[in-house]
Amino acid sequence: MSTQPRSTFAEVAYTNGYEFTEGSGYTLPEYPFVIPPELAQGTIGRHEIVIVGGGITGLTLACGLAARGVRAVLLDEDNTVGVKGASSRGICYTQKSLEIFQRLGIYERIAAKGIEWSVGRTFAGHDEVFSFDLKAQGNFNLSQQPAFINIQQFYIEGYLVERIAELNAQHSAHQAPLEMRWQSRVTGFEQRDGVARLQVSTPQGEYALDATYVIDATGTHTPFHAWCGVTMDSKRGDDRWCIADVRFRNTPPTERHTWIEAPFNEDRAVWQHLMGDEVWRIDYQMAPNADPEFVSREDQVRERLRRQFGDEVDCDIVWVGPYAYRSQCLHQLRRGSVFFMGDTAKVVSPFGARGGNTGISDADNLAWKLAAVLRGRAPDQLLGSYEHERLQAAQDNVLVTNRTARFLRPATPQERLFRRAAISLAKRHAFGRLMINTGRMAVANTYTRSPACAPGAGTSVQNVVFQWADGSRGCLNDLLTWAGEDLVLLVFGPQSATALGRIRQLTAQTPLKAVQVLSPGERAQCLEHLRDPEGRLRVACQAAGQAWALVRPDSYLAATGADWASTLVHRLSRALALA
Ligand SMILES: Cc1cc2nc3c(=O)[nH]c(=O)nc-3n(C[C@H](O)[C@H](O)[C@H](O)COP(=O)(O)OP(=O)(O)OC[C@H]3O[C@@H](n4cnc5c(N)ncnc54)[C@H](O)[C@@H]3O)c2cc1C
Repeated sequence: MSTQPRSTFAEVAYTNGYEFTEGSGYTLPEYPFVIPPELAQGTIGRHEIVIVGGGITGLTLACGLAARGVRAVLLDEDNTVGVKGASSRGICYTQKSLEIFQRLGIYERIAAKGIEWSVGRTFAGHDEVFSFDLKAQGNFNLSQQPAFINIQQFYIEGYLVERIAELNAQHSAHQAPLEMRWQSRVTGFEQRDGVARLQVSTPQGEYALDATYVIDATGTHTPFHAWCGVTMDSKRGDDRWCIADVRFRNTPPTERHTWIEAPFNEDRAVWQHLMGDEVWRIDYQMAPNADPEFVSREDQVRERLRRQFGDEVDCDIVWVGPYAYRSQCLHQLRRGSVFFMGDTAKVVSPFGARGGNTGISDADNLAWKLAAVLRGRAPDQLLGSYEHERLQAAQDNVLVTNRTARFLRPATPQERLFRRAAISLAKRHAFGRLMINTGRMAVANTYTRSPACAPGAGTSVQNVVFQWADGSRGCLNDLLTWAGEDLVLLVFGPQSATALGRIRQLTAQTPLKAVQVLSPGERAQCLEHLRDPEGRLRVACQAAGQAWALVRPDSYLAATGADWASTLVHRLSRALALA
């Protein structure tokens, strides 16, 4: 292999598939190219984990590994976050993602920059036909994090890059866990005998490196699908949209407003959301045969804004561009050494904010499992549960978003009839409102097909508050961080001496930390205990009476039970793929 510097590397072009048409755009940070050891020394590097793609998914995984001190290399073909020259794609981040970001140490930055919202209103013509306030839904109130924050996707990606640098700085230069390699495009791949070889192209020449695990987080245009010969279901519709990111002088209310039939958009749909920097994202549904260039022209956009907000509308156009979408889902998420996550695993329409949010959960799911396997605490089989769990999530999300897409752009006479009936009923009857589907907002997916989760478990445990033994305030994420890579056994209610002995034995022999959860008036029997004065932990873990709950590092419930002998041991073994 030649180590002579060559400059065949073509910089990532502005647009990257998106059309930047009008507006002042966004300024993204730029990260330097650093010559990697493989180029400097002319060797083929060997790494346990190589993440390809530094979008929101790849960076979340990288941060999750760095937080655990697990070494990995991240390769990204660009030198920045977001999509060069394009607007932010993602804007809406769910409670589950915010909880993950709190654990990773970037939640405060997101909350400071983003816009919290909980009220959504849907209109057909001038009638409100559906509304929700997520704050009024009890399950959202259990968590420390709000139901949703709106923020441009590239800000989150930038915070993840910053956080990885902070985590690296906690180690000596040689021991820094996460090596970020910008302007490093993967151009070739093969795998043999459990080892993958990647060819990487950079501005300073090409090199090869080997990896035990390759994570494909390269998004919708991934080259790995062809390299690995994956199979998938894929469908592209004819629905067309045009984004207008604008900054108003007089701002509308901070609510999510959607129109199924907007009188100011020729009775087609419109979305209206506030993001960071007081920028409003307004999505206009276009006619299927609309000319993308024409609908994105500034005079056309201003005319649409005038029709929507009146003649007095006064705003700057930050970004305008058209988009279409497809729906796609792989049949498997692992091929030998390669794991697919984020948009390489599935692609969904943007309705319901399920794309990026599920990529974040893919990353959180795999991060602790890779750490457990590489540290010898669990066998490689544990990684199999990534596919069981996240494939189910991908399929569920594709199903839900496809339903919304069909409601918004009915393709058959039957679908058009259903939509007309739903709108007409919703205008008159409360029950009709349930049929209105302008997007079912993303939630933490439940795992019912995973062998690692007991029947009835597999749900996400929210980041609830409690009191540590000294009376100070804590939350579930603090507990998970304290436990490191171990699973947490929460022990509810007074226990017999036999049960306590059993727990001590288990924690001494397995990657498990046990904590007794005390309700008001209960006495501590274990050294490690905390107080749950409002019973929030109990509710979040679905634990009644004397019971235990096994919580994983990704804050998913692996199992609950009351039997301290066989059931607990069995469930613990299944959660770590030991049996
Ligand atoms: C209009 C619109 C609105 C959306 N709104 C939301 C929303 O509100 N909430 C939400 O959660 N999601 C939303 N989404 C979806 C979300 O943007 C995507 O799901 C998300 O970007 C996927 O992230 P990713 O990291 O998997 O892939 P990407 O963000 O595409 O990242 C891929 C990365 O891989 C790199 N790369 C590519 N090829 C190579 C290579 N060969 N070698 C090295 N690096 C490579 C790229 O440079 C890039 O950094 C929206 C999407 C659209 C289009």
